Amino acid sequence: MRFDVVTLFPDMITAAASYGVTGRAIQREIVSLSVWNPRDYTNDKHRTVDDRPYGGGPGMVMKYRPLHDAVESAKQACSQPAKVVYLSPQGKPINQALLSEACAVSQLILIAGRYEGVDERFVSKDCDDEWSVGDYVISGGELAALIVIDAITRLLPGVLGHEGSALQDSHMNGLLDYPHFTRPEQIEDSSVPDILLSGNHADIEIWRMKQMLGRTWQKRPDLLKNKKLSAAQENLLQQFKSEVE
Ligand code: SAM
Repeated sequence: MRFDVVTLFPDMITAAASYGVTGRAIQREIVSLSVWNPRDYTNDKHRTVDDRPYGGGPGMVMKYRPLHDAVESAKQACSQPAKVVYLSPQGKPINQALLSEACAVSQLILIAGRYEGVDERFVSKDCDDEWSVGDYVISGGELAALIVIDAITRLLPGVLGHEGSALQDSHMNGLLDYPHFTRPEQIEDSSVPDILLSGNHADIEIWRMKQMLGRTWQKRPDLLKNKKLSAAQENLLQQFKSEVE
């Protein structure tokens, strides 16, 4: 998988992506990451990337040409057609389904805006999609691009130490993850559930599924509205409900 990020702050992307799961995936060449600074595609002495908005109003707008030329350079560096995504509070909400689908694209060019955003003609002419990290505004698209890079990278084969560990994460199957415990067995009056110490892996699997269903019902009941549960899962959820009531 190849990520290209168009950003006025390239060091922010390369530094943050060099840690942990993404850092290891880059080192092992499972993913590659390149950054493109629109400032390198200017030809005035001040390397101007922004200008005042037509119609007046506060703030500055990122100019079309440096963004377009940076994207063109990124596209030329890609060996296959890439999908160009503008990170924007007006975009499709990023969720696990959107990211899982994005894994099928082998080259993503992510555009991080700044200021009041980018010239609208750049969005309509140069971008294939707009993605949002949520219904709030952050100061630049870099953090959003890093979220996308991280969340996709952990889904790629060979990236996480234990195959399948991404599959059990929250949202992968429309449910929240089950609770996790590690040593010590006892913390003040709180102990690890007996079932997890039993060594009975079949029973542990059933208990974990019950917890996933129950926690989703408790914390994010909206997720269960669109989820089709099997008869066995319905039964486990009923058991969970009667145990907490
Ligand atoms: N005026 C823009 C609006 O209200 O739609 C917001 C501009 S914001 C201050 C600057 C940049 O941050 C945007 O161009 C975008 O790249 C990024 N950004 C802000 N909020 C975001 C969000 N929720 N998801 C993804 N990117 C976001």
